[in-house]
Amino acid sequence: MQRRRFLQQSAGSAVLSLLAGPQLFARQDTPYTLKEVRRGVGIFSEKGGTIAHLATKEGIVVVDSQFPEQSQHLIEQLKKQSDRPFKYLINTHHHGDHTGGNVAYKGLVEHVVAHQNSLKNQTIVAKRNQSEEKQLYPDTTFTDRWQVKVGPERIRAYYFGEGHTNGDSVIHFENANVAHLGDLLFKGRYPAVDRTAGASIKHWVTVLDQVEKTFDKDTIFIFGHAFDPQAVTGDRSEIGTFRGYLEKLLTFVGSEIKAGKSKDDVLKATAIPGVTDVKGDGLSRNLQTAYEELTEA
Ligand SMILES: [Zn+2]
Ligand SMILES: [Zn+2]
Repeated sequence: MQRRRFLQQSAGSAVLSLLAGPQLFARQDTPYTLKEVRRGVGIFSEKGGTIAHLATKEGIVVVDSQFPEQSQHLIEQLKKQSDRPFKYLINTHHHGDHTGGNVAYKGLVEHVVAHQNSLKNQTIVAKRNQSEEKQLYPDTTFTDRWQVKVGPERIRAYYFGEGHTNGDSVIHFENANVAHLGDLLFKGRYPAVDRTAGASIKHWVTVLDQVEKTFDKDTIFIFGHAFDPQAVTGDRSEIGTFRGYLEKLLTFVGSEIKAGKSKDDVLKATAIPGVTDVKGDGLSRNLQTAYEELTEA
């Protein structure tokens, strides 16, 4: 009896796995995880910024590309699930952990899309590193908004100005109501702020206001990075939390500057008042970036 019930349950879960498809389960024997987010939009995580993907009967859309090996892993998985063409690869911004794998889509994807500053930044960095032959650059750029329909899904890109760089966009899968924030949100860890690529902490706060206004309480957000690698998705409450961190960082460093503290003294701080939920290293880099931004002419 005991054994029979066990067999029935096992058969039941096997059927469930088949219905759910391979996407729902992180396989133990692979270095990466694939997870369904909602209505066909999934995420891929291995090394670098979180990738989003969607396969429709008209074609496949991918947001960000980590590195070539990681993109290859995702491409193999997507090809197993769909024989449709790769229509669009969209980059949230130029950083290597989001565009380094673009080259794996060479000759495979119809269009690579990004904000025009993302293309500019990618080109500057690749020239500087003499890695131009390792790039696949966007062939389609936009300044403010961009949109496309692929099968039943409409995908919109939004640019809200300087934040983590000067070329970050938010990619929204409208029907699924899933928005990829790229590196505009670091969950639970100190963010990278790339002043060499036009970042602005002050304006980043405004960008997050715009994100909050543009999307709704049902939107599921995808984050580029999180302290807990499993926690790369969440709701709008995360936007307020992260914006709060940036505001506290600016307030603290601003008050230290007003009090006449030197840069070295500011960098000695081991915590930011009121911040308890941000982990990892990167505090002193954030303090330095805020100091530079607040004291620049
Ligand atoms: Zn990143
Ligand atoms: Zn980045």
